Amino acid sequence: MSEAKRRSRPTPRERASARNCQEEKIFGFRKRPDRTREAAAKTGAAFSRLIGGLFSRDTLDDDFWDSLEEALIMADVGMKTTMELVARVREKADSRKACAAPVVRGLLRSEITDTLQRAQKGGAGLADDQAAVVLFFGVNGVGKTTSIAKLAHSARGEGRSVLLAAADTFRAGAIEQLQEWGRRLGVDVIAHRAGGDPGAVAFDAMAAARARGTDLILVDTAGRLHTKHNLMEELKKVDRIIAAQAGDFARYGLLVIDSATGQNGLIQARAFSEAIGCDGVFLTKLDGTAKGGIVLAIAGEMRLPVWFIGTGESLGDLSTFDPVGFADALIPEPTEA
Ligand code: GDP
Repeated sequence: MSEAKRRSRPTPRERASARNCQEEKIFGFRKRPDRTREAAAKTGAAFSRLIGGLFSRDTLDDDFWDSLEEALIMADVGMKTTMELVARVREKADSRKACAAPVVRGLLRSEITDTLQRAQKGGAGLADDQAAVVLFFGVNGVGKTTSIAKLAHSARGEGRSVLLAAADTFRAGAIEQLQEWGRRLGVDVIAHRAGGDPGAVAFDAMAAARARGTDLILVDTAGRLHTKHNLMEELKKVDRIIAAQAGDFARYGLLVIDSATGQNGLIQARAFSEAIGCDGVFLTKLDGTAKGGIVLAIAGEMRLPVWFIGTGESLGDLSTFDPVGFADALIPEPTEA
């Protein structure tokens, strides 16, 4: 076999990773090619700066475990998830005789993978080829509108019909921004005037989608701080209207989080989940940050699956999330000699 051919064959790890990504569709269209490992490179480098040195220690004393906890917290993994991860790893290490630090590295890697995979199972039950309506929400500037455009582009690429709903009637220019994406993508946008009722936009979008037999409706909403009570109430109202009008459409709530927000991302996830319920997360800007440790906090504490990651500003910069690829970026498998 030629060297080129040998290199093009996937390794067992790559095959496992690919299987993970092909298992299901999201909103009825195929998962995107996985770019998790590549996109999480900065996060991986930061993670390895924080914890890498620990694994060359000679003894697994209390100081080792304390330092590991500290490093994970610094990496934005969050207090609760850190405690749980370290407790599980320590239990496994204690049950082995003469467990060395490099073994702990492998144990940690596998616990991280398990934590992420458990959360991804929360995505089970996604409708396969059913028409769907997806409500996007999150704080201002996280990348909601851009992410909607990326998903619309992907779905259109698979021949699925898409309708966008401009239910962000609050931010100046938001309607025009979505309409501009609609024009570029050849996708219709249901919009009212600025300052109008976002619930009415959602109502009209559902009616239009039912009448046209649309496959996928993506609903943009105004960015809001999870702490603003009246805006959260408005979001609940939009959600209720969609629920009442959904009919045969599968309904999803997708929380958009900027991966650079660190622990604040966890606070947002909690608040939005309590208010209207989240089915999954769209984690944006993973390409530009070293702070992606928040993925673990959200998976560990909220059991929320990451459905998509944003890997840049262009339409094609979208990937599904692969837990094995992410764990691999954080703690790469040792290379064989
Ligand atoms: P919104 O206020 O939540 O609707 O946010 P926008 O969609 O307007 O995006 C805010 C900024 O983030 C824009 O400059 C986008 O180009 C940028 N952005 C969105 N997603 C990504 C991503 O995955 N990576 C990078 N690097 N930038 C992104």
